[in-house]
Amino acid sequence: MAETQTAPTTVEINDAIFCQHFKEVCSDCDYDGREENDAFFGLDPIDREGIEAPPATTNKEGIYQCKKHGSAACNQCFGWKKQITRLRTQAKKAGKK
Ligand SMILES: [Zn+2]
Ligand SMILES: [Zn+2]
Repeated sequence: MAETQTAPTTVEINDAIFCQHFKEVCSDCDYDGREENDAFFGLDPIDREGIEAPPATTNKEGIYQCKKHGSAACNQCFGWKKQITRLRTQAKKAGKK
């Protein structure tokens, strides 16, 4: 895959968007998908830590599924809303707005 300087390549895993490195916030490809993911889950975007996807592989249809359980909608590996909510709570406690 060729390096691109403009739009970073993104992947969708169980409805959340990550960069090609499975990160929500990535300095390598200058990507920040927090706002998009927060909006998707009906949350107001705030300055929180980014989430990271665990090891995943694509199935025949090109859908990402977790390596551990082989599920495309795994609540344990891909439980984004829970993870995001926890990080939001942490960010608020840390006094960020
Ligand atoms: Zn990246
Ligand atoms: Zn899993």
